[in-house]
Amino acid sequence: GPSPGERAKDMAGRRLLVTAGPTYEDLDPVRYLGNRSTGRMGIALAETAAVRGAEVDLVLGPTDLTTTVNGITVHKVRSAREMHAISVMKWPKADAAILAAAVADYRPAEVSRKKIKKGDKPLRLSLVRNPDIAAELGQDKKDHQRLVGFALETDNGLENARRKMKDKNLDFIVLNSANDEGAAFGHETNKIQLVNDVMVTEFPLKTKLEVADDILDALLLLLTA
Ligand code: C5P
Repeated sequence: GPSPGERAKDMAGRRLLVTAGPTYEDLDPVRYLGNRSTGRMGIALAETAAVRGAEVDLVLGPTDLTTTVNGITVHKVRSAREMHAISVMKWPKADAAILAAAVADYRPAEVSRKKIKKGDKPLRLSLVRNPDIAAELGQDKKDHQRLVGFALETDNGLENARRKMKDKNLDFIVLNSANDEGAAFGHETNKIQLVNDVMVTEFPLKTKLEVADDILDALLLLLTA
């Protein structure tokens, strides 16, 4: 086996697509709708996979974080539609995708070319649905490909996670509870459950790099099965 400090290249020869970070949906030249995702978990997944020998396409929404790890091609995007375009382009050649991005479900129906002026009346925004990247990759998934999604739930976590898994044709889902202290958005640590249709594997609170290894171990089992 590998000597201490050296990692097994157990993902050598695998192509992995990872989405990470938030998306920003522009309202006008200076305003957007966004969310609190930092991309840290997805970046940790990309880095850990690359260190384990994978070739990684990281589709990264707007965040201050980035990566310089060898073996990762970073595709910087802003909106859900941009993230969607790169992801569907890279999916056919990938062995697996891990969709860790917090993609906006909606975008403004129109983007104003000029800064929206305030007035005395309430302002109503009209929003339209964004493409669901996970569901689309799931639809186009080939027998040899594996697809992993994330779910951040505040209630009925397990039930919702399993429904999402089925609807989007995922192989398993990483469930993080929005209620757990020290987990999910903005934290260095995360506490996850891996959920498939027959079991739930619960992990303790760990750093996001350690969590990434757990997720990749589970994925690798499915890729070699
Ligand atoms: O339906 P929900 O947004 O909770 O599903 C979360 C999972 O689906 C995550 O893996 C997320 O990255 C992915 N997703 C996506 N495109 C969307 C919405 C969610 O890929 N438009």
